[in-house]
Amino acid sequence: AASSAGGTGVPLLDLQGICSGYGQARVLKGIDLTIPEGQAVAILGANGAGKTTLARTIGGAIAPTSGVLRIAGEDVSGRPPHRIAELGVAHCMEGRRIFPTLTVQENLLIAARNADASAARERLGAVYDLFPVLAERKDQGGTSMSGGQQQMLAIGRALMARPRLIIFDEISLGLAPVVMDKLYEALAVLKQAGMTLIIIEQDVDRALALADHAYVLEHGVFGLSGAPSQIAADPR
Ligand code: ATP
Repeated sequence: AASSAGGTGVPLLDLQGICSGYGQARVLKGIDLTIPEGQAVAILGANGAGKTTLARTIGGAIAPTSGVLRIAGEDVSGRPPHRIAELGVAHCMEGRRIFPTLTVQENLLIAARNADASAARERLGAVYDLFPVLAERKDQGGTSMSGGQQQMLAIGRALMARPRLIIFDEISLGLAPVVMDKLYEALAVLKQAGMTLIIIEQDVDRALALADHAYVLEHGVFGLSGAPSQIAADPR
């Protein structure tokens, strides 16, 4: 996760006064969020608070109606998703987006954007090191695996693009605790390696255990933010 923004004091992600939504529906109402490179940030909040909308706005799927979105100092407000992805932002979202007609390995290789064959092989090896079960199942259909294994594949696909920032949107939804443990162990490895993580979660304890900083989204604004220990202790 080495990068030009590292050590320069320029945050990898910087949102100032971001508003966005869907047509008439205003969802985000002035979000300020600064994430230095290498930090893990938890975004918590009830159903409908706007967490996914925030993730989609950062990824460029929704253009902000006002405010500024910067990645490594560059103003990218209103840029389309592929341009934001080029700057190293990956989005591991609900629904997983696995191609059912491709094998596990094909699903991974197709996600290695702009990588030549040897770089793609190296990235594939790194994903298989992180999730050995994917190597065991590499020739199987992408959607033929269990829910947890498909989630590993979704994370693996995000990693194949060698991102600087990954947004994990409710990756543990509907999974058994033992499977969630495995996913969160992998996230801890990524954090250890210096990757910047945004963890959107309803499982508050798990997200706070991994995060350096946490924000609680309430009706499109951050109602609360602070160190995970502070958030965990706050009765609100
Ligand atoms: P959840 O945990 O349920 O996914 P969330 O915090 O991620 O919730 P969002 O999905 O961002 O919340 O939704 C925020 C608000 O935007 C909700 O009121 C939702 O109904 C609305 N919304 C979401 N997607 C759309 C859409 N495509 N068009 C119109 N409104 C939408």
